[in-house]
Amino acid sequence: MAAARLGIMGGTFDPIHYGHLVTAEAARVEFRLDVVVFVPSGIPPHKKPYDVSPAEDRYLMTVLATATNPYFKVSRIEMEREGPSYTVDTIREFASRLGPGIQLFFITGADATLEIVTWKDSDELLRQCSFIAATRPGYQREKIEEEVTRIKDRCPNGIYILEVPALAISSTDIRRRVREGKPIKYLVPESVESYIFKAGLYKVSNSAQALACET
Ligand code: NAP
Repeated sequence: MAAARLGIMGGTFDPIHYGHLVTAEAARVEFRLDVVVFVPSGIPPHKKPYDVSPAEDRYLMTVLATATNPYFKVSRIEMEREGPSYTVDTIREFASRLGPGIQLFFITGADATLEIVTWKDSDELLRQCSFIAATRPGYQREKIEEEVTRIKDRCPNGIYILEVPALAISSTDIRRRVREGKPIKYLVPESVESYIFKAGLYKVSNSAQALACET
């Protein structure tokens, strides 16, 4: 029997948007994944804590956004682990929970993938799973291809570029739009839009909020 193929969609998801959902669905279809598990970072390793919304809010928005797709699941694995959410620890945990009959595909933004050699235990990480680097068409294509060529020998399971037009949507832009009172309709699912307004997220920048709490 062929090994089950599991997509692990890593991100901060602050907030999750249609670009992420289209990426996960495109990866599922193109790489014949059985399931895609969204893994919101608990503590993103390379971000200041006050720059990121609470993990519980990001998790709940991810659950709401993925609820209608039977192939999508959401995991609390990084939220429940103490300390920074290193990808290598997440992949180790999935691999040991699921055993050898599973092929793992880590899906994330190409910008993040470009930095992978600087991540914790990158040699082990690169050996553990396949990588899908999602980018919008044309964006830094040459730079991404160069980096992929440079590291592909260290990545025996393959590293792939996936172009996703919907990735023109970005979480940074959505947070700015909310702060400026602009609409975010059609950028995020309605349930996520409602959650953002009900929870009062992004009304002021996270760092400004942190500063206000300290003073
Ligand atoms: P980021 O630096 O905030 O994002 C980089 C770019 O990738 C942004 O354009 C972002 O767009 C996009 N992006 C992020 N996740 C995506 C996804 N799943 N699908 C499509 N585009 C995506 O990256 P991040 O969210 O903090 O980190 C991405 C993943 O890499 C996470 O799982 C994180 O834990 C992992 N990571 C691990 C280490 C480590 O182990 N040392 C270090 C850094 C990152 P949006 O802002 O619109 O999402």
